[in-house]
Amino acid sequence: MRIEEDLKLDFTDVLIRPKRSTLISRSEVDIRREFTFHHSGRKYSGIPIIAANMDYVGTVEMARALAKHQLSTALLKHYDEETLVAFFQEQGISQRTFYSMGIAKDDYAKFCRVFDRVGDAVELVCVDVANGYTKSFVDFIHKLRNTHPKITLMAGNVVTGEMTEELILGGVDIVKVGIGPGSVCTTRKMAGVGYPQLSAIIECADAAHGLGGLICADGGCTSPGDLAKAFGGGADFVMLGGMLAGHDECSSEFIEKNGVRKVPFYGMSSRTAMDKHAGGVANYRASEGKAVLLDYRGSVENTLQDILGGIRSACTYVGARRLKELSKRTTFIRVSRQTNDVFGDS
Ligand code: 5GP
Repeated sequence: MRIEEDLKLDFTDVLIRPKRSTLISRSEVDIRREFTFHHSGRKYSGIPIIAANMDYVGTVEMARALAKHQLSTALLKHYDEETLVAFFQEQGISQRTFYSMGIAKDDYAKFCRVFDRVGDAVELVCVDVANGYTKSFVDFIHKLRNTHPKITLMAGNVVTGEMTEELILGGVDIVKVGIGPGSVCTTRKMAGVGYPQLSAIIECADAAHGLGGLICADGGCTSPGDLAKAFGGGADFVMLGGMLAGHDECSSEFIEKNGVRKVPFYGMSSRTAMDKHAGGVANYRASEGKAVLLDYRGSVENTLQDILGGIRSACTYVGARRLKELSKRTTFIRVSRQTNDVFGDS
């Protein structure tokens, strides 16, 4: 047994210190990024925020709505082949939408069938598992990179620099970072495993950038300020689940509770998700996610304006004319933990 004594931080442990700036208005801030991916060689231009591949978040309706604003979506893994083929052929979708899959044989076979039918229309692929430290995951990444050299591959999840490096050397363009911080995740409680998310971002970004790779901070953002901290810590992309749930574009059912319209949201390792997609929780494992009811929030357009406005504001406070400059201009100050009310809830 070993104990690491280094300081590790979450979003709630810091604030961004204001700096002198010549910016006059938030409208002067450009929050788009441009990247050339290390392995695929493809170019990306857009606002580097991605809707998570979770039920009621990574829907085709969400992908269409976000693509209009140059944001991306990782599609649900459970769409059938015909839906995926039709969707990836829609205009404006292929550069913005990640095809998502796990590492099972069936996942790979379905991906190959869709890819063979739509060809280059699937440019972005997200392979994610709860624990990106397994040999089977790394072997899968190697296989996928060999069979599909032109795809831009995002994969995870991991939380440490050495595993980030291994994935990038193994063919990953964007390493997905985060174990345990998600709004409906219970891994920290059920398994005692995790890593404070801001430190994971800082350490993994440093490792990735040294090799020409990128990272996507996944999980734990509960307000626009958390996205600013993630980008300030070095994240190239940020993935959102809970902050984008509860909207018209989520294709969820509504539940009336005491006269208030609520919408369900749950973790993809929750009992609810496993009952829906895997015929129940297997007898050797426990659920590592929970189900909640969120207030209905109307169109995602309103929430987007708050999120993008918050990031622009952070850039203005530190004098970053472009999102790319935010991390160079960021000094975090440690604070005693702030309360973390869920964004959008009253
Ligand atoms: P959020 O933005 O809601 O805080 O976090 C979204 C992320 O939580 C997802 O992208 C995914 O990585 C993670 N996640 C989703 N469902 C579950 C779950 O049931 N268990 C765990 N451990 N993580 C989950």
